[in-house]
Amino acid sequence: MFASLEGKTALVTGGTRGIGRAIALELQKAGAEVIISGVNPENTEITATKMGMKALAADLSDAEAVSEFLEKIPEIDILVNNAGITKDGLFMRQKDEDWQLVMSVNVDAAVRISRKVSKKMMSNKWGRIINISSVVGHMGNVGQTNYVASKAAMTGFTKALAQEIARKGVTVNSVAPGFIETEMTAQMTEKAVEGMLSKIPAGRMGKPEDIAAAVRFLASDDASYINGTTIHVNGALYT
Ligand code: NAD
Repeated sequence: MFASLEGKTALVTGGTRGIGRAIALELQKAGAEVIISGVNPENTEITATKMGMKALAADLSDAEAVSEFLEKIPEIDILVNNAGITKDGLFMRQKDEDWQLVMSVNVDAAVRISRKVSKKMMSNKWGRIINISSVVGHMGNVGQTNYVASKAAMTGFTKALAQEIARKGVTVNSVAPGFIETEMTAQMTEKAVEGMLSKIPAGRMGKPEDIAAAVRFLASDDASYINGTTIHVNGALYT
């Protein structure tokens, strides 16, 4: 039997679909009250209502929208920084705007939300911050310099913040997915998928639920001494 998350409130950014949706459902199943965030207010509200959750919407690439979003965030026990985007292209062809866009969502917004919620977590002497990074943040990947840098940044952020606030009963960890079946990977060409599958020892892509299980564990009291680290969920693609 897994430790219950009864009485805890969780915020899952990008919880409307894909990995974030699976995480939100898993935390809810474990007993947490869940708030999901998405880009579009109307769609986020509709999706959250269907899932029996609360909604908070904001375009996390917009610094002003993030400031307004921060004002609306209630007291949170479990933060899952899941919202993330790609803007792929070979480095020499990438524009400065592509770099800024990826950093704004994958790093800047996650860092600002973490700062906002961690204050209360520290005074409550209990909190969980779980960053969804990526296997490519550890391996590198051609055509993804911006995305890889953003994920590697979150891995470093995870380590340093964990060391700063561990004494206050707050843990900060990352879950690094390998290749997972979502709308993000559905954009890949058949050839790219075949090439990728040939490199995965498990012989298949992962499912959003594979990531959600690791998040649920890190969010629980069972993981209270696991801090500042990364759980890799990738079918032995990177060991
Ligand atoms: P997805 O594209 O299916 O979902 C992304 C979520 O982020 C959506 O809910 C979307 O609403 C939200 N989002 C995107 N841009 C946003 C913005 N500007 N403002 C607010 N929210 C925004 O992606 P996914 O595959 O479910 O990925 C979820 C996380 O997992 C991401 O951080 C991604 O980098 C990471 N990841 C995914 C894979 C994979 O193979 N799918 C692998 C490694 C890491």
